[in-house]
Amino acid sequence: MNNTFKLIFRTAGLLLAAAVLAFLLRAYQDRRRTQKQASQREQAVELSNQAVEVSQKGDPPRAVGLLKQALLLAPGDSILLANLTTIYGNMMVLEYQKGDFRKVLELGAAARRDSVFSATIYYLNAQAFCLDNRNDSAVSLLATASRKLPDNRDIAGRLAELRNEALTEQDFQQDRSGNFEIRFEGTENSEISGEVLMLLEEIRDRVGSELGHRIRGNTSVILYSDQQFRDITHLASWAGAAFDGRIRIPVANYQNDRQMLKNVLTHEFTHAAIYDLTGGRCPAWLNEGLAMLLEGINPKEQIYIPLKDLQKPFTGLESDQALLAYKASLSAAYYLTSQYDWAFVRLLFSKMQQGSDFGPAFKEAYGISLDEFEKRWKESVGK
Ligand SMILES: [Zn+2]
Repeated sequence: MNNTFKLIFRTAGLLLAAAVLAFLLRAYQDRRRTQKQASQREQAVELSNQAVEVSQKGDPPRAVGLLKQALLLAPGDSILLANLTTIYGNMMVLEYQKGDFRKVLELGAAARRDSVFSATIYYLNAQAFCLDNRNDSAVSLLATASRKLPDNRDIAGRLAELRNEALTEQDFQQDRSGNFEIRFEGTENSEISGEVLMLLEEIRDRVGSELGHRIRGNTSVILYSDQQFRDITHLASWAGAAFDGRIRIPVANYQNDRQMLKNVLTHEFTHAAIYDLTGGRCPAWLNEGLAMLLEGINPKEQIYIPLKDLQKPFTGLESDQALLAYKASLSAAYYLTSQYDWAFVRLLFSKMQQGSDFGPAFKEAYGISLDEFEKRWKESVGK
C-alpha cells in the first residue's frame, strides 16, 4: 500500500464515520421532531376542544382566539380551519341579524384572512359592502364566490342584481356638492339634481344639529325614474324612497311638489345620519319615528304596537301593516321626544356611537329601561 492509497483509505474511513454519525444524528432529530409535532398536535387538539366548548357557552371571540392559537401549533390543519370558518360564519350571521354592518365587515375581513372559503361569509361580507356604499367590492367578492360555487343561487342572484344595478347606472351623469355626490339620468334631470343637492346641504345642517352629528365623508344619492327605483330596490309599491347605504329617490314622483321632495329627502337623510351614528343598530321604530318627526309630521293618532315587533325594517310588510307600523313608530318617537328633551336623543346616539348597544345606551341616556319606557308610552296611548 503506498502512502497515497493509505491516505485515501483513511480519509474514506473518516468520511464513512462522519456519514454514519450524520445519519444517527438525523434519526435522533427526526424522532425529536416527531415527538415535538405529536405533542404540538395534542396541544392543538386540546385548544380546539376548548374552543368548541367556549363557543357553545356563547363566547365565540374567545373560541376564535383559541383556534388561531391552535393553528400556530398545527398550521393548515383542515379540522381547525373548518371550525374557525364555522365560528366566524355564525358570528357574522348574528351581527348581520342585529344590523351591525360594520361588525360584519370587520369579521368578514378577518374570516377571509384566517379561515377557508365559505359561501355564508362571502355573501354576508358582500351585503355589508353594499351597505357601506362599496358595491364594486361586493361584486368582486360575489364573483369569486360564484366561481367557486357556480350552483349557489343566492350568490348568483345577488351578483346578477348588483351587475344589473351597475348597468342601469353606467350612463348616469354625476355631480357633487360639498358633502354629497349625486347620480341621475339624462340632462333633463340636471336641474332637479342641482336642487336636490342644495336642499340636502340645508337638510344636513338641520338634521345634523338635531342629532348632534355630521356624517363623515360623502353621502351618495341616486335619482331614478319610478320604474328604475322599483327594479333596483324591489321595494313594495308603498315605498316612496330608500336608504340602504345610498339615498335612492324616484325623483320624477316629486317633480311637481317641492315640499314633498324636501320632506322625502329629510326623511332619508335622517336614516343616513342615524346609520352613520349607529352602524345599523338603531331599531326601526326609533329610526322611522325620528325620520318622520324631522320631516315635520306630527302624529294625528296615538297607536301602540309592542316595540319588539317594530325592531326590523318595515320593508317586507304589506301596505296596511306597514302603515300601522309607521304610525306606531311615530307615536313612540313623539312620546319619547315630547316627554324628554331632544338632548337625550343626542345622548343616546352618542352612547351608541361609542359602541353601546341600543338597550344599554337607552338606559344610560334616559335613566329608565326600555321596558319602563314602553310601559309609560303604552299607558299614554291608552288614555
Ligand atoms: Zn324611512
